[in-house]
Amino acid sequence: MNIDFDDDIEEFRNEVRAFIHANLPDDLRDKVRRERSGLTPFDTKRWTRILHDHGGWSCPSWPTEYGGPGWSYEQQYVFERELRENDAPPLDLFSAGMVGPALIEFGTDDLRQRFLPGLANGDILLCQGYSEPNAGSDLAALQCRAVREGDEYVINGTKTWTSSAPYADYLFGLFRTDSSGKKQHGITVLFVDMKSPGLSISPILSFEGGDELNQTYFDNVRVPVANRLGEEHKGWSIGKYILGMERFGSAEVGLSTGTLRRLKEIAGEEPANGERLIDDPEFAREVASVEAALRQLELTEQRFLFGPGGPDAMGFEASLLKVKGTELHQQILTLMVEAIGAYGHVEPDGEPDDKANAMPLGPEAIGYAAHTYFNMRKATIWGGSSEIQKNIIAKAVLGL
Ligand SMILES: Cc1cc2nc3c(=O)[nH]c(=O)nc-3n(C[C@H](O)[C@H](O)[C@H](O)COP(=O)(O)OP(=O)(O)OC[C@H]3O[C@@H](n4cnc5c(N)ncnc54)[C@H](O)[C@@H]3O)c2cc1C
Repeated sequence: MNIDFDDDIEEFRNEVRAFIHANLPDDLRDKVRRERSGLTPFDTKRWTRILHDHGGWSCPSWPTEYGGPGWSYEQQYVFERELRENDAPPLDLFSAGMVGPALIEFGTDDLRQRFLPGLANGDILLCQGYSEPNAGSDLAALQCRAVREGDEYVINGTKTWTSSAPYADYLFGLFRTDSSGKKQHGITVLFVDMKSPGLSISPILSFEGGDELNQTYFDNVRVPVANRLGEEHKGWSIGKYILGMERFGSAEVGLSTGTLRRLKEIAGEEPANGERLIDDPEFAREVASVEAALRQLELTEQRFLFGPGGPDAMGFEASLLKVKGTELHQQILTLMVEAIGAYGHVEPDGEPDDKANAMPLGPEAIGYAAHTYFNMRKATIWGGSSEIQKNIIAKAVLGL
């Protein structure tokens, strides 16, 4: 069941659908259908440009004065769902969903002029410099130091788990500018040019072969004071605002809906005990159970988004959506790996970063299912682990 949108929103839905069918490049659609295997930041960049050139569709939540389409919450919701339902790449979350809104809310005119157009059209790719080797869940413990020298900050230290750092033009990060008070005080948000002298990147390979993670080192890296977002020492609340935006879209109902659709396709072709796997009562029950949970999550998300106060009133609700959404996607991927059975153990030919072009053995799913299953274990860690989200819910709802 879905909420009933007015006719004009349904018309808008048709417009979005038609646009995607006419403009989504085939190779990008294929990669998304393979659970995004092989989808690179450069693909996101290409898709961002296509959306941007169509009335600022790359940044659905931005007002028109900053290059967005000025849509209502209903339009934004329908748009993002249609992207997912029609196998389009996701929006650039860092640019469109997190840093863009923060720049609009807290940035100087100079910062907005320098960054917003490039974030909107894909010319500027960002990476996030929050986590450090000893500051993840306890993010306020961060130590990477930025010392003010005239019109510049000089940064020394390290950031870790920096996704997509080698592709990025700028890192938006939290840096320690004062250690004298509470640890939440003395944190400052800076945009660091990734080509700065003294900045180096070292890849962290993940066990399923992914290479998106990195450690970033700062050795006397100089950053102009003009690249500071908000006031000096007062970046903690901006950093949390940006993280809150990250959790906003994390129910990932559309993503799970696409994965579930492919699971059903695979189970409809795979044999099991002389019948189709999808007709096996036990397997069918498990598929029905995740589908029911997904529809419940969808309704809960709609209730939060379109209830009193809308998305702006979301607090612990965003944490709840992240926990349930990421766990449910993992459950669906587990069923997908069960569905392909022994084929899941076979590595496709080709390089680890070339899975999309590999020639799989067995069912079409083999090239990505097991790889994606392992890869998505990370979803319950990034952006704040499930345990941390549950702590937030416990405090807000149960007063613990
Ligand atoms: C794929 C991936 C991409 C990422 N990309 C980025 C990025 O681009 N930029 C960036 O800055 N960071 C990134 N991160 C880092 C991510 O934000 C951290 O991994 C996360 O916040 C957890 O921190 P940690 O790894 O230091 O684990 P820790 O904080 O050391 O936690 C270890 C374990 O202890 C649990 N735990 C910790 N504290 C508590 C508590 N108080 N109560 C209950 N349990 C607790 C955690 O849930 C976890 O299971 C990424 C992580 C992943 C996995």
